[in-house]
Amino acid sequence: MLRTLKEEVDIRAEAVQLVIDGKPVAVLSDQESVDQLLETYQQRYVGGLSRTPQADRSVRSGRSGQPKVKEVGFVQSVTSRPVTVDPDDVMQPHQVAEIIEAGAVAERKHTVQEGDSLWSIASRYDTTVKELLALNPNITENTLLQPGQQIVVKAKEPLLSVRVVEEVTETKSVPYKTEYVDEPKMYKGEQKVIRQGKNGTVRVTYEVTKVNGRVEAKRAVAEQVVEEPVNQVIAKGTKVVAARGTGQFRWPAIGGYVSSRYGQRGGRMHTGIDIARPASYNIVAADNGRVVFAGWDGAYGYSIIIDHNNGYRTRYAHLRSIKVRVGQVVERGQVIGVMGSTGRSTGTHLHFEVIKNGRTINPLSVL
Ligand SMILES: [Zn+2]
Repeated sequence: MLRTLKEEVDIRAEAVQLVIDGKPVAVLSDQESVDQLLETYQQRYVGGLSRTPQADRSVRSGRSGQPKVKEVGFVQSVTSRPVTVDPDDVMQPHQVAEIIEAGAVAERKHTVQEGDSLWSIASRYDTTVKELLALNPNITENTLLQPGQQIVVKAKEPLLSVRVVEEVTETKSVPYKTEYVDEPKMYKGEQKVIRQGKNGTVRVTYEVTKVNGRVEAKRAVAEQVVEEPVNQVIAKGTKVVAARGTGQFRWPAIGGYVSSRYGQRGGRMHTGIDIARPASYNIVAADNGRVVFAGWDGAYGYSIIIDHNNGYRTRYAHLRSIKVRVGQVVERGQVIGVMGSTGRSTGTHLHFEVIKNGRTINPLSVL
């Protein structure tokens, strides 16, 4: 009855049709409803970070992490045109929003991630492995998926995708550099930090493009130095020492006295002199030379032998610790270890030997 009446009267309404990528989607009562629908649809991806004066202020004050929305738009082309329709065909904005959101099933490409399998992909897109294989004739159930590989999937996509361009600032650390300066007072091979390095900070502004909330692109557009890094400065020794002795031996300790002489001692040969009660426990090289032994040597305990490359060698025994290594060239007077009581020893002292052409001699004859 009603239908007949309508046909007879032929009621037609002026309305506006929403067109997405050239395809009519729905009819709304007027342009204002269309605009309102589109605005509301966009706002869901802009969230609370809309272009309010407050949000803008926080960006201007330079705080990090507060995105500033620069641009909001649709990926698809969205148009509208006036139409004359049956009033029953005119829809409410919320109904149209549902249609847009429900979208359509469309083919798209899935990029394989580490750990993906046909089964996990099928489950993610709410489909079956069989259907995936039908969409991808180049793969079989036995194909090993490679990360980065693209697979055709059918996925529900909303009719409209919202593209939001945001500006985000992030504070990043800038690692310090290390510079070296030559130090002639230090031996070659020695290093010392003379200025501690400190990382700097820089504020980087990125333009982030999101589609339906997913980040599609991120690029740096500005960089502001907050704090310059402080370079680390390391002094590098350049002093080169001749490995050949001068022939002039010096006292191998800092002070102290001879507590036991070279020669026969209780029926045994004492092959060096003992030096005890020094002013400082540092032991120094008696002359220039090259370290040929540095380590543990039975009754000598921790000990060092220096070859002076002139027929003489010197031995420093019962050390508490050793500060040189085999092969190292040492200078007359350079600290090589610390006096101790390791090995066969009854108290803290240095056992010092001078060896001339392979035989020990009385050190006091050359000191
Ligand atoms: Zn001794």
